[in-house]
Amino acid sequence: MNTIHAVRAEILDFTADPATHGSAALRHYEDGMLVIEAGRVLNFGDAQALLPTLAPNTPVTHYKDHLIIPGMIDTHTHLPQTSMVAAHGGGQLLNWLNNCTFPTEMRFSDAQYADRIAGFFIEELLRNGTTTAMVFGSVHPTSVNAVFKHAMQRDMRIIAGKVMMDSHCPNDLQDSPEQAYNDSKALIEQWHNKGRLQYAVTPRFAPSCSVEQLNIAGELLAEYPSVYMQTHLSENTDECDWVKTLFPEAKDYLDVYQRANLLGRRSIFAHAIHVSDDELKRLSEHQSSIAHCPSSNLFIGSGLFNLKRCEQAKVQIGMASDIGAGTSFSLFQNYNEAYKIQQLQGETLSPFKGLYLNTLGGARALDLEGVIGNFNQGCEADFVVLNKSASPLLKLRLEDSNEIEDTLFALMMLGDDRCVSRTYIMGEIAYSDNDDNDNDG
Ligand SMILES: [Zn+2]
Repeated sequence: MNTIHAVRAEILDFTADPATHGSAALRHYEDGMLVIEAGRVLNFGDAQALLPTLAPNTPVTHYKDHLIIPGMIDTHTHLPQTSMVAAHGGGQLLNWLNNCTFPTEMRFSDAQYADRIAGFFIEELLRNGTTTAMVFGSVHPTSVNAVFKHAMQRDMRIIAGKVMMDSHCPNDLQDSPEQAYNDSKALIEQWHNKGRLQYAVTPRFAPSCSVEQLNIAGELLAEYPSVYMQTHLSENTDECDWVKTLFPEAKDYLDVYQRANLLGRRSIFAHAIHVSDDELKRLSEHQSSIAHCPSSNLFIGSGLFNLKRCEQAKVQIGMASDIGAGTSFSLFQNYNEAYKIQQLQGETLSPFKGLYLNTLGGARALDLEGVIGNFNQGCEADFVVLNKSASPLLKLRLEDSNEIEDTLFALMMLGDDRCVSRTYIMGEIAYSDNDDNDNDG
């Protein structure tokens, strides 16, 4: 059997950050082609140029009137909060955690429940065109086993970890430094680098962790240098004040983590709204990344993320849904919110930059450039086939849209899971909206 196949459609990706490289960062072919061999990108470019290079009888699937983009990358989300998304009346972060989040996360002690939600969660990512995600489990190892099991069945690239928390939470959600170490170590040994799966050491956030617990996280990272670290940083002003009183010896919030050696190339900090210039400088020096969670920041009223300041500090940034404080799995809808957050600060967020953050920017934030994020040769062939007329309004809006920048803007502002016609994982269809009329391949 021929292992080479191709898809043909309008297609685009990014090779650089549009904030620094402008439209030169974009590769866009109105009649484009992606050639795939054994799950990886073999070739990418203009269809008329590539068609003659294909061997006779190479299967080509033609998605007319569709747009193909690289699979999107969600750099911060919470599996156990899937069923409590859009919880009303939780207030801001600290109340919301106690009133909404912790009771739901307790349900993950039940392996059957964890398995059901994990299956749903993975399907929902695919339905939204998200092919890679960095995922918080609950404190229970069952949560990580469940999400990795379902991701492995779909051959998805998922990074996940069991939450470590030994302070300021209900007893049923508490571990100890020793238990967190043993559970995390066992999960790393079982799952890290198994297929496309990778592990993240996951201290929830400073207030949930004793100094001993944070030090244990640092020890795990020293013991397993290729694993990730994910946590939260400076999301809410009450939280920041609380951290100051809990850790008086630290010079600022980031220093709480830095003292435990948690900063590195594979460390991803969610939010980072209320950070100082010095904290940004240190994040940059350690090549650590920020996961920007626009929908979440608005939903629980955390504040307005200053994208430009982070860019100027040269910190890598990825887009993130932060389910369930975020209200949409769709990274298009998170771009929609991110755009408005920048508008409120007198800045703009171009659709090129937005889609870059959703794809190559996310790959860079996760230290996975060259593996996912664009269509460079050898990259894993994760991609999304978008239906540009998925809703009557979108169809009308795009009738006279001739510029890719305008098309992308409308697609991302108005679009969501309804626009996702196919999601491909390693060159194979992993999700289909079951509309058989949209290709003639
Ligand atoms: Zn979060």
